Amino acid sequence: MSTPVLSVSGLTVTYGQLPVLDGIDLDLVAGRVHVILGASGSGKSTLLRALIGMVPSPGQVSARRFLLRTAGGEVDLSTPDAWRQVRGRHVGLIAQDPAQALTPLRRAGSLVREADRLTGGTADRGRVAEVLRAAGFTDPRAVASRYCFELSGGMAQRLGVGLAVAPRPAVLLADEPSTALDGLARARLAATLRQVANDGAAVVLVTHDVALAAGLADDVTTLDDGRLHDGRLAEGVPRHQGIRRIAVSVPPPADRDG
Ligand code: ADP
Ligand code: MG
Repeated sequence: MSTPVLSVSGLTVTYGQLPVLDGIDLDLVAGRVHVILGASGSGKSTLLRALIGMVPSPGQVSARRFLLRTAGGEVDLSTPDAWRQVRGRHVGLIAQDPAQALTPLRRAGSLVREADRLTGGTADRGRVAEVLRAAGFTDPRAVASRYCFELSGGMAQRLGVGLAVAPRPAVLLADEPSTALDGLARARLAATLRQVANDGAAVVLVTHDVALAAGLADDVTTLDDGRLHDGRLAEGVPRHQGIRRIAVSVPPPADRDG
């Protein structure tokens, strides 16, 4: 197996007295979609927040080892300062609620420019249009000038995904991204996540959408009692069995459908 992009061991997150994550070991590998299944309240969002350095107070995070490997070398993520260089740039997050990634009174194009600048992109009009087109908008110029509050739910979701993906992060984290989506939008999201992995990122998908997981997972683990266990998509179905890779190809939607 190739060297992991991100390695964490002994990751523990505690709110007050209660450990939500209790010694998680995780190696994220480029090109793979790692699926983590877990019941509501099992700590999935907490895990992703820890992996992007955003556990809110009063959460306490500790890890024996927390290493990101970039083209520029290894970054030790066990210090809070290290995250400033990394967040959004090497590690991206698709939040469950797209509104979390968007600012109502900012224009879509301005958010895209900001995301592109993180990686030294040109952030010019052509690049903004390219990012929006890749996010599934057929009329990127019209969308770029819209305020975020003017976007429909589906458009906001697409923009949120586009913003997380635009800087080409080495690690892309997705927090139950399919919850609010209809079937077509879910298929489009699945295709995007697979493409991001094929382009060389390590993708982490936390979900309880077993159908989405089954179509995408290179490996599955379950989060339970604060620990990761070898995954089972259903009782008695061991890891990898029953995981069928489906090729999803969906034409971009018209901008007004979402
Ligand atoms: P999931 O995403 O799997 O539903 P979460 O990570 O959101 O689970 O929550 C895991 C546990 O951590 C829950 O018991 C929740 O109440 C607790 N928790 C999450 N965020 C906070 C917080 N900011 N302060 C205190 N407890 C929290
Ligand atoms: Mg959650």
